[in-house]
Amino acid sequence: MKYQAVLLFGAPGSGKGTQGQMVGQIPGFLHTSTGDLFRALDKNSELGKVFAQYSSKGLLVPDDFTIKLWKQHMDNLVKAGKFNPTTGLVIMDGVPRNVNQAKLLMDAVEVKKIVYLETADIDKMVARLKNRAIKSGRVDDADEKVIRNRMTVYANETAPVLECYDKSVVASIEADQSIIRVFSEVVAALVPVKEAAEKKA
Ligand code: AMP
Repeated sequence: MKYQAVLLFGAPGSGKGTQGQMVGQIPGFLHTSTGDLFRALDKNSELGKVFAQYSSKGLLVPDDFTIKLWKQHMDNLVKAGKFNPTTGLVIMDGVPRNVNQAKLLMDAVEVKKIVYLETADIDKMVARLKNRAIKSGRVDDADEKVIRNRMTVYANETAPVLECYDKSVVASIEADQSIIRVFSEVVAALVPVKEAAEKKA
């Protein structure tokens, strides 16, 4: 059985985390963020050190490790009765981040929708990330060089992930709008997916 998923897609700073958290409040949706899973690791553990080593440079953590962590997280939630994989929709924020990760997830995930938060204003995203770094103490977003590296990794490795899926599942949303307007468009894109999932109940 595969998890029914919605991919939240977009460059760092496009608002995936904000929108994912809000959609995650709607009954039947679960927000998962690989970035959050990594940040929750004990910094002194072996895995925590691997994460720090890559993220401090704006680089992606190795694929096997990332996908294993996400799958383990999902399986634990199902075992604990916190997520119903038959009717629930999992919001995937920040994963898959390259074509290999998309392939590694194919046996575990059925992508019902891709919400693509599109933005052309790179400087605005960089400013958002810097602002967030100040508020949350994220080291990877405090340094402009690391941020620019994250943008390059996104363009070279993550953007091609869209080609792995049928165009018909992609909903492109202008990310440079107010948070609530983006949210209303995200919800509108998800209504048919949610209603179809409910029919399985
Ligand atoms: P994020 O919070 O999604 O911006 O992720 C922060 C950092 O965590 C990234 O710069 C990567 O180092 C790492 N990371 C998050 N998700 C992934 C992923 N799917 N694959 C590899 N590394 C990831």
